[in-house]
Amino acid sequence: MRNLGGLVFIDLRDRTGILQLVVDPKKIPETQNLGLQDCVYVAGVVRERPEGQKNPKMATGDVELEVKKLEVLGKSKVPPFVVEDEVKAGEELRLRYRYLDLRREPMQRSIIFRHKVITAMREYLNKNSFIEIETPILTRSMPEGARDYLVPSRLYPEKFYALAQSPQMYKQLLMVAGFERYYQIARCMRDEDPRHDRQPEHTQIDIEMSFVNEHDVFKLTEGMFVHIFKTVMHQDLKTPFPQLTYREAIEKYGTDKPDIRFGMEIIDVKKYVKDSAPFKDKNEVRGFVAKSGNAVSRKKLDEFNAWAKKLGVGGIYWAKREDKFSGSIATLMDEKIAAVLGFDKGDLLLIAAGDERIFNFLGELRNEIAHELNVLTDEFKFLWVRDFPIFEIDEKTKKYVASHHIFTQPKEEDIQYIETDPLRVRGRLYDLVCNGNELASGSIRNHNRQLQERLFAVANMDKHKYTMLLDALEYGAPPHGGIAPGIDRIVMILAGLKSIRDVIAFPKTTTAQGLMEGVPDSVAPEQLKDLHIKLEEN
Ligand code: ASP
Repeated sequence: MRNLGGLVFIDLRDRTGILQLVVDPKKIPETQNLGLQDCVYVAGVVRERPEGQKNPKMATGDVELEVKKLEVLGKSKVPPFVVEDEVKAGEELRLRYRYLDLRREPMQRSIIFRHKVITAMREYLNKNSFIEIETPILTRSMPEGARDYLVPSRLYPEKFYALAQSPQMYKQLLMVAGFERYYQIARCMRDEDPRHDRQPEHTQIDIEMSFVNEHDVFKLTEGMFVHIFKTVMHQDLKTPFPQLTYREAIEKYGTDKPDIRFGMEIIDVKKYVKDSAPFKDKNEVRGFVAKSGNAVSRKKLDEFNAWAKKLGVGGIYWAKREDKFSGSIATLMDEKIAAVLGFDKGDLLLIAAGDERIFNFLGELRNEIAHELNVLTDEFKFLWVRDFPIFEIDEKTKKYVASHHIFTQPKEEDIQYIETDPLRVRGRLYDLVCNGNELASGSIRNHNRQLQERLFAVANMDKHKYTMLLDALEYGAPPHGGIAPGIDRIVMILAGLKSIRDVIAFPKTTTAQGLMEGVPDSVAPEQLKDLHIKLEEN
C-alpha cells in the first residue's frame, strides 16, 4: 500500500497474481483502515496505466483498477511475520502459521506446480487404460521395512489397526482381482527416525500392472515422465533412460543413486600401483580422475583425507598433473599410466584403498568434488538401477532382512540360492534415479505362494501376517509388477527446490511435529479409557 498525491495504490493479491488498485480515500474512506493482509471485495474500472507508470516486470503491469467500491470481507490482525516472497521469518514460525506462509507467491507457485505434475500423471495413466482405485488406510500391521503407526481399536480391546505404509499388498490383490492396470495417489505412513528430507507421511503414485516384465514397467514410467516434462516443464525428455545393474552402479559410481550429469567414473587402478607401498596388501584400489581438478585446493584435499580416515577407509591418495605430476602418489605416475587413466594436464587423480567400504566413500567423494568444481548443471539425467540384492544383513540384529521389499521375485537363475546363499540372490527390483536422487522404486512380484513363503522364511518374517496375500496367490494370480514414484521428491526436484517441505501444503517438521496443529499432543483421559489404554506413570 502506497500513498501518493492523495491517491492510495494497493497491491491486490489473488491466486492468479497481483493487480494494482488505485483508490481515492476521499471517496472510499474505508481505505484509511485497511491492513496488509485484509481480505477485500473491490469493484471498479480497469484502465491503462499512465505512461511512465507501467511495470514491464508484472503480468498486469500495463493496467490498474480504479476502485469504485471496496468492502472489507475479513479483517486481518498484524501477521506474525511479513508475508513476502523473500521471507525472513524462520521455518518454525512459517509452519506454525502455514496458511499465511502459503499466501506467499513462491509457495503458491510450488503447490500449483505440484498440482500440475499430479494432473499430468493422472492424464497419462488414464490415457493408458489405468484405473484409479483407493485402498484402505486402516489396515493390519504388516511391517514393510519401516515401523508402523498403530491405531488402537475402541470396539476390540487390546487390538490395533496400522496405518498403511504403502498400498503394496492391496495393489497386488487388485491384480489377483483382475484389474490389470491400477494406480493411486497414495499416502504412505511410516514411523521412521527423523531425517532431513523424510516426512512421517509421504505421497506416491502407486502403479501396478499384470502380465508385464521390467521392460514394460520402464517403458510406461518413461512415457509418464516424458508427458510430465512436456506438459509441465515444456521440455523434451530423451528415452529410453540408460540402465545399470546395482553392481555396475556401485562399481562405477560408488552408489545406487548415481548422479550422471558428470563423468568421473570410478576405475580399478590396482594393476597400475599394486606393488607400491601403500597399496601392496589392499584388496581394492580404486579412484577417479576429476577433469580440471587442479582447482581443488590442498586444504580441501587434506579435509577429504581426514574425512576418509574418520570413515575407516584409511585416507586418500592423490596426484595433480601440470607440467609434472605432484601430490602424494606423484612418483607412481608416468605418461603411460596417465594415458590409460585419461589423466590429463590440469586434472586431479584421487585414489582410495582398502575393502568394499571404499566404494561408498568414493561415491560420496565424487559428489563432493563435483560440487567443489561446480560441474553440476540444471539438466535432468535419469537412469534405471536394477537387479538389487533381495536381502541384506541388518546391522543391529545381524539377520537377513529384505533390502527393498520382500514381495519381489528373485531372478530366475538365483532362486536356487535363496536358502544357501541369500546375499547372492538378486531380485527383479529397480529404482528410477535422477541427478543422484531415487525418484521411484518397484519390482516384478512373486505370484507363487511357495516362492513368496521361502523369502519370508529367510527374512524371518511371520508369514501369518500376510495370509491375505498368500491365500490370494492360490487363486489364479497373474504375473504382475509395478512401481511407485514418490511425488514429493519428484516435485521438489523438478521445481528446483531444496526442501521437501516446500512442496507439501501442510508438512511436519524434521522431528515429525505438526506445529500448526500442535501434534503429537496428549488426549483426554476419557478418550484413553475408550481405547482401553492406560499410560505408564512417568
Ligand atoms: N510398495 C513400494 C514402496 O512403497 C513400491 C513398489 O514396489 O511398487 O516403496
